[in-house]
Amino acid sequence: MIPLNETHNPQLRSWVESANTPGSDFPIQNLPFGVFRLQGNPHVFRVGVAIGGLMVDLTAAQAGGIFDAYGGLAQAGALACRAPTLNAFMALGAPAWSALRLALSRALREGAPQQAALQACLLPQTGAEFAVPAHIGDYTDFYTSVHHATNIGKLLRPDNPLLPNYKWIPIGYHGRSSSIGVSGQAVRRPVSQVMRPGATEPVLTPSTRLDYELEVGIFIGPGNVLGDPVPVTQAEQHVFGLCLFNDWSARDVQGWEYQPLGPFLSKNFASTASPWVVTMEALAPFRQPWTRSSGDPQPLPYLDSAELRQSGAISIELEVFIQSDAMRKQGLIEHQLSHSNFRDAYWSVSQMVAHHTVNGCNLQPGDLLGSGTQSGPTEAEAGSLMELSKGGKQPLPLPSGETRTFLEDGDTVIFRGACTAPGAARIGFGEVRGTLLPARPLP
Ligand code: CA
Repeated sequence: MIPLNETHNPQLRSWVESANTPGSDFPIQNLPFGVFRLQGNPHVFRVGVAIGGLMVDLTAAQAGGIFDAYGGLAQAGALACRAPTLNAFMALGAPAWSALRLALSRALREGAPQQAALQACLLPQTGAEFAVPAHIGDYTDFYTSVHHATNIGKLLRPDNPLLPNYKWIPIGYHGRSSSIGVSGQAVRRPVSQVMRPGATEPVLTPSTRLDYELEVGIFIGPGNVLGDPVPVTQAEQHVFGLCLFNDWSARDVQGWEYQPLGPFLSKNFASTASPWVVTMEALAPFRQPWTRSSGDPQPLPYLDSAELRQSGAISIELEVFIQSDAMRKQGLIEHQLSHSNFRDAYWSVSQMVAHHTVNGCNLQPGDLLGSGTQSGPTEAEAGSLMELSKGGKQPLPLPSGETRTFLEDGDTVIFRGACTAPGAARIGFGEVRGTLLPARPLP
């Protein structure tokens, strides 16, 4: 685990005034990485670091000599950021990430001698266009919330909700990376085969049980060589950082297609990531012990370690909001549907990486792992509409007078995330939002 250092000091303030506003997601203790371009500007995407309502254009800052005084590693990091994606920077590993973070922290602090030069490299986040932060070669979706797995299992198999492998294996499947978009994505309601209740033959139809899944996205840093497993004790050295992730899901499609090989068209039409990746170093103050209750099987040795037990969990408060088309037209702000916390995940980030690679499977820089829907122990902490509406049986009231069981065309789904801990500065993830468009006409 990454030790706390001067970049985490809660007393630090930035000369970027908006970074010091209480409640800002991007104080100087955060410094998340993303990829942006200015709207209407045809030049290629660039790497940026969020600070308050602004962001540092790292290409301009590196060219301007901001990092010259900070040594080879920070320079190497900044040079790797002169690219339209974060992959090259992610591949460098924790020493370079940490050196660049320290350089940025020092250059953005109140009284920093670099203020005048760096000021010219700042851009407003408003009005910028973001991209998926990395080229995602492979995407794997896990299923790490035992509460979600149990809730969904109860709906599908009331007498046998949790399958026997769940408490032994971090369950996952290989997803589709080509359809992952960034916050602001407009998602087309998918069409596929559905077997309606009581029917004897399936029909091709737009999904009528379209759902979101509240997930945390995990970006891989340095990969591993094909054939070489990553031990759980080294797993986090292969993780760059985390984002918010909406894994849109068509429940009616899923229910018909998922056996025996798992989800396919119910999941691969779209997933949406937040633009900012919060680094593992920024998350260091929010680590918590990872625990497994004594009544449950303890993990096999390759999924267990003293460090995991001490600090394997990460406390991230997650929130889900919805704004329907009618709410927008009535001037109503988004309505909160639920909240949960990533610390309640049954499997940790390090266990996901260790299990994924134990057979020798190679991860590569920029690969994305989805945490699976993060539902907490209470009903109010459900991370999908499937759970909140009890499989579509309990409509949820919206402030517009409408109700929802599943998503309607025009609905915007918004996730937010933030970390708080005693003695630490609050940091946030920003948000991920996506809007559902009507289905295309049937072929
Ligand atoms: Ca999922």
